[in-house]
Amino acid sequence: MQIIQKGNKHTNFSGRGGHIPIAIVDHISGGTMSSMDSWFQSEGNTVSSAHFGVSKTGEIHQYVDITKMAWANGITVDSISKATASIVKEKSPTNPNKYTVSIEHEGTDGTLTEAQFTATVWLHKYISGEVKRLYGKPLVLDSKYVIGHFQVDPIRKPYCPGVKFPWERLYAALKNEEVKDLKVDKADTVVNGLKLPEGSVLIEGRTYVPLAAIGKAIGAQVSWDNETKTATIITKA
Ligand SMILES: [Zn+2]
Repeated sequence: MQIIQKGNKHTNFSGRGGHIPIAIVDHISGGTMSSMDSWFQSEGNTVSSAHFGVSKTGEIHQYVDITKMAWANGITVDSISKATASIVKEKSPTNPNKYTVSIEHEGTDGTLTEAQFTATVWLHKYISGEVKRLYGKPLVLDSKYVIGHFQVDPIRKPYCPGVKFPWERLYAALKNEEVKDLKVDKADTVVNGLKLPEGSVLIEGRTYVPLAAIGKAIGAQVSWDNETKTATIITKA
């Protein structure tokens, strides 16, 4: 995936005022990608911006640097109490723009194309990695720290990013990647008196044995389909 820089001298941004980005806010643009680009580059726009935009074709545009604050989720101190996101309440009375990274999505009701979904999943992970690189700890990709604009501003933005935005699928996709961070060690060769096959691993205190070895032990054939993540075990009749 690549990120195409689209910010210009008219793009609105401010400093983060010493705050670290800890949350991502997802938005829907309500228009086309080209109208998003021109609005965030327009001299006439003195009210809003976002860090990123994701098109229906899966293209990622960046308008504001992660280290800077985009003007995407600003609310008055009075409205913070109306926010439904727990992180916004906890950070009260801090302006949510100070500690968030905002992603706009081309569209109207939250429906994402497959290319757009894949790109935004990648982008969420990229942002988390960049935050870790820049500030020493990753932005946590769960439902507390990845939120919708409607959770920040339910009064004025109840339909951003839209009722069809795939929250469950997004959280599942973001969670999958965390498996990579699990501590994987080589398992002992003998556990409870059983000799383990080669390739057995110890993940967080639990021993995992390769299915192929089990198949071999019982005289079956094991095949793996990476596309569907399915193992097929064929035993001799
Ligand atoms: Zn929004």
